[in-house]
Amino acid sequence: MHVLITGGAGFLGSHLSDRFLSEGHEVTVLDNLITGNYQNIAHHVGNPRFQFVKHDVTLHIHVPFKVDAVLHFASPASPKDFPAIPIPILKVNSLGTHNALGLALAHGARFLLASTSEVYGDPLVHPQPESYWGNVNPIGVRGVYDESKRFAEAITMAYRRSHGLDTRIVRIFNTYGPRMRIDDGRVIPNFVSQALRGEALTIYGDGSQTRSFCFVSNEVDGFYRLLMSDEPGPVNIGNTRETSMLELATLVNEIIGNQAGIVYRPLPKDDPKVRRPDISKARAALGWEPTIDLEQGLERTIAWFRTQMNLE
Ligand code: UDP
Repeated sequence: MHVLITGGAGFLGSHLSDRFLSEGHEVTVLDNLITGNYQNIAHHVGNPRFQFVKHDVTLHIHVPFKVDAVLHFASPASPKDFPAIPIPILKVNSLGTHNALGLALAHGARFLLASTSEVYGDPLVHPQPESYWGNVNPIGVRGVYDESKRFAEAITMAYRRSHGLDTRIVRIFNTYGPRMRIDDGRVIPNFVSQALRGEALTIYGDGSQTRSFCFVSNEVDGFYRLLMSDEPGPVNIGNTRETSMLELATLVNEIIGNQAGIVYRPLPKDDPKVRRPDISKARAALGWEPTIDLEQGLERTIAWFRTQMNLE
């Protein structure tokens, strides 16, 4: 297949490019590099089955060759980005999704939308099954991401119903691993880079809030299986092990041997209190479940951060 990946120079998109190339497919990456990084894909330059086009997908997308699948992964995704670049986030998930759907329709291609556990907001149902409609503040700082991803799901389903487009929706839970930006702002890059510098880890709030962290190679395997299946979704892809931020901070300090401890900072507004996927659907429809545990995944992530921070 020839797959086109929007946001393919980002954290998830670049790992997805690696996976498709390793399975023998052709990959075209579109990315405007606002949060993506050319270094994430530089190792494919010279591969005849790979090409990179610098393009903002909120503008019309034209490709002069046939594509078989469009995977829409373009979007900033760190809570740090939400107040910093709210309008580009709203645009990429609305106009960008519309353009990516139009491209898929014109090519008779399969379409996969990277949606998010953020559609569940600060969830009142725990763990979250796909049938839960969510608890989102539309006018809060996180709303630019949550609501635009909800719109992206809605327009994807409208293209499926109105145009018969062959669509998939994946709801991505917290994912971590190599190629996250050191200054990304999300909790694992923050904790790991702070611990490697011998600084105290910044816990927001009292650290009792939970997340469920999936290692990137497991996560991308879920995306690959979903695209190759007949399941339209939405399907939750994430790890079911739930960890409080205090447990995570303690674990990172332990693995790295950081003596500087923890400092407490104010909790950002609308920060979800809990988050854990119900992955029954992924298990049944895709035969997928995560295999890499948090300790193993953190070791690999820490090793990569060490090289990036020249600490080897
Ligand atoms: N968090 C934290 N310290 C940090 C960064 C984040 O305690 O330095 C908390 C944040 O408040 C949230 C959780 O870690 O409760 C996960 O945040 P992240 O930004 O990684 O992603 P989210 O799941 O909120 O989208």
